[in-house]
Amino acid sequence: MRLFWRRGKGFTLRTACTASAFAAVLLTVCRSGTAGAAIGASSASGPATVSVAASSRSQDAPSDEMMFAKRKRLYDEISAKTGLDWQMVAAIDQYERTISRAHPKTRPKKDDAVTGVFVQESVWSGNLNPEPDDDNPSSIRFFSGIGRDGSGDGRADREQDEDALYSVAVQALQQGISDDDFSIGLWEYYHNTRAVQRILQFARLYRHFDRLDLKGGAFPLPVGDSYSFRSTWGSGRSWGGYRIHEGTDIFAGHGTTVRSTCYGIVEIKGWNAFGGWRIGIRDLNNLYHYYAHLSGYEKNLKVGDIVKPGQTIGWVGSSGYGRPGTQGKFPPHLHYGVYRDRGLVEWAFDPYPMLKRWEQDEFKMRRSKKTE
Ligand SMILES: [Zn+2]
Repeated sequence: MRLFWRRGKGFTLRTACTASAFAAVLLTVCRSGTAGAAIGASSASGPATVSVAASSRSQDAPSDEMMFAKRKRLYDEISAKTGLDWQMVAAIDQYERTISRAHPKTRPKKDDAVTGVFVQESVWSGNLNPEPDDDNPSSIRFFSGIGRDGSGDGRADREQDEDALYSVAVQALQQGISDDDFSIGLWEYYHNTRAVQRILQFARLYRHFDRLDLKGGAFPLPVGDSYSFRSTWGSGRSWGGYRIHEGTDIFAGHGTTVRSTCYGIVEIKGWNAFGGWRIGIRDLNNLYHYYAHLSGYEKNLKVGDIVKPGQTIGWVGSSGYGRPGTQGKFPPHLHYGVYRDRGLVEWAFDPYPMLKRWEQDEFKMRRSKKTE
């Protein structure tokens, strides 16, 4: 493990420093310097038939729908009470949810909870409050706790969806509702620039698509094209010192279309000594999708753009392992890595099972279309 300096917030660490992890960190730190370093887009741009896999949610679709409907009602309610648009409320909630999921032991949520918000008891009731589980809004206020009554039942219940989400939204609004004031309010609550960045990214995604359900996924290459991949998680590599392989290599011809696997925002784009021309995309689950060794980018794509599953983002190449423009030091392939943001650190996990699922889903969908 190594420590890396992060803008404004001191050190963070990533797991064993690999090409992809290192690349991602480097560019998170200095992305303005390299962002937008577009290179000649290959002519293999192909009309990218965007057939987005419906993912594996066909079976549990009704419950998903119900859950999204419940969340939407809650967001509309908090929106009406605070003046924030529902997308911003949803973004706060979704950020909290991703952190709660990453830390189930320290941020336990009930199965039937609608909100993902978790507030520590002492933060809720106030540090010096003799009653840690106090739910009286006035005494909580007296002890400077953040707990409020969002549901109108006269109690400030930490476990209640309306109360929990409303209380955090009100904290974020302490400085005002304009974009700048709101960002400062978020920072003052989380003391974490990454949290602020994520919430603003999520809000942009919800505003762009104007819906909560953004769960689909797609295989990063057009399925059925000639490519090959196997699980290469953790195997050793040599260039740039010993590093563990954090990702899956998908071998394919130079110029094969590379597509976004998720709904997300382009967070990083440009050269990195290890990853070559690469792109990093953040999704609503707080996962960072990393595509490396490209031969070129979709020419209109820039940092901050919103993408959806199946959308062309670039082309397979063999760039990397040297100065900008270096290529051909290894056979052309897409290096695909996924990192989970756990709040202060990001961990890589093996994307192979996800890749397999997306590939199978798309094959299935294609077959069912043929038999219709
Ligand atoms: Zn790789």
